[in-house]
Amino acid sequence: MGEVWTLAEYRHEKLSTVSFELLNRGKSLSQKLNVPLASVILGSNIKKEDVQELIERGADKVYVVDDKNFKNFLVEPYANVLMELLNEYKPDIFIAAATTTGRTLMPYVAVRIKTGLTADCTVLEIEEGTGNLLQTRPAIGGNILATIKTPNTRPQMATVRPHSMKPSLPDRNRKGEVIYKNYDESLFKAKSKYLRFIKDESQQVTVQDAKVIVAGGRGLGKEENFKIIGELAELLGGAVGASRDVVDRGWITYPHQIGLSGKTVSPALYIAAGISGAVQHIAGMQTSENIIAVNKDPDAQIFHLANLGIVGDLNEVLPLLIKRIKEYKAKEASKNVQ
Ligand SMILES: Cc1cc2nc3c(=O)[nH]c(=O)nc-3n(C[C@H](O)[C@H](O)[C@H](O)COP(=O)(O)OP(=O)(O)OC[C@H]3O[C@@H](n4cnc5c(N)ncnc54)[C@H](O)[C@@H]3O)c2cc1C
Repeated sequence: MGEVWTLAEYRHEKLSTVSFELLNRGKSLSQKLNVPLASVILGSNIKKEDVQELIERGADKVYVVDDKNFKNFLVEPYANVLMELLNEYKPDIFIAAATTTGRTLMPYVAVRIKTGLTADCTVLEIEEGTGNLLQTRPAIGGNILATIKTPNTRPQMATVRPHSMKPSLPDRNRKGEVIYKNYDESLFKAKSKYLRFIKDESQQVTVQDAKVIVAGGRGLGKEENFKIIGELAELLGGAVGASRDVVDRGWITYPHQIGLSGKTVSPALYIAAGISGAVQHIAGMQTSENIIAVNKDPDAQIFHLANLGIVGDLNEVLPLLIKRIKEYKAKEASKNVQ
């Protein structure tokens, strides 16, 4: 049986955190199959300490292709080189993050090497007996969960949602093998041309980038009550999240929805107000570092996950919380003036 591979993302001469989230996922798969876990890193000016970081975070092997042509992402050269690697080393499983890079590159490669790919998975497991990769993702508008497998072709390819798993932690004593590869200039030819990178400055903090999220659910009672969620989020410099129930009711738009059929987030602080904690909601926020739940039902499911639970009416609790934060901020501001 071949290795389990993860795609490490290297942009602007830096490793992105999704690379470590993938190693965390890959680790459980490779352990179950009892095969090595390897990361592939394609980039320009790749630092030795970044390659070492992948090993310390779980990779047994790292395949490195360091080439000036990889300074900026273009799908054709990335795919050409990946296909060479896949054909030479024949891994059994190859996973990438469902980022712009992963979503562009993986289907392009899968079609060319004639294998299956499941996009945007939330769960990856190994099937008992066969060792096949079970790739689970929401389907039909998020109304069902579909588990897909690729029994006849290899590698089995999947992209997984960023933030759906915590990054693996480093073990500074870990050792691994590094394989440097060079490829012929012809593989880097592309029909498309990189012009420039334009950052989207139009959006304020999105739920996926926010360090703090204040999320509201059906317990808000009516659309107007989202104002209080917005006020608290603004005070904390965070973003507004929501359960699917309130999105379906039209109280707030879909980009705010957290959960299985919405966004997956992993902020430092997640405040859930009037949200029961259905499994589909939890699937999108369970990796948050700290969770505070406000719910009037002491038996609400969300309290099983929360680090701090407040049993009470959100119409009383949230205004009090806002008042206290404002008082605290005013006190801090007056200290700075003195
Ligand atoms: C395939 C599928 C995909 C789904 N995807 C998602 C998804 O991505 N995200 C998602 O969120 N859901 C998703 N759902 C829906 C999910 O199952 C729940 O229906 C939904 O999360 C419930 O939203 P809620 O917690 O806001 O509402 P409820 O479950 O109705 O909970 C409301 C909570 O508010 C509390 N409450 C009421 N009044 C107050 C008050 N005054 N003060 C304090 N607390 C109060 C209640 O005690 C209750 O716990 C999905 C379902 C399916 C089948």
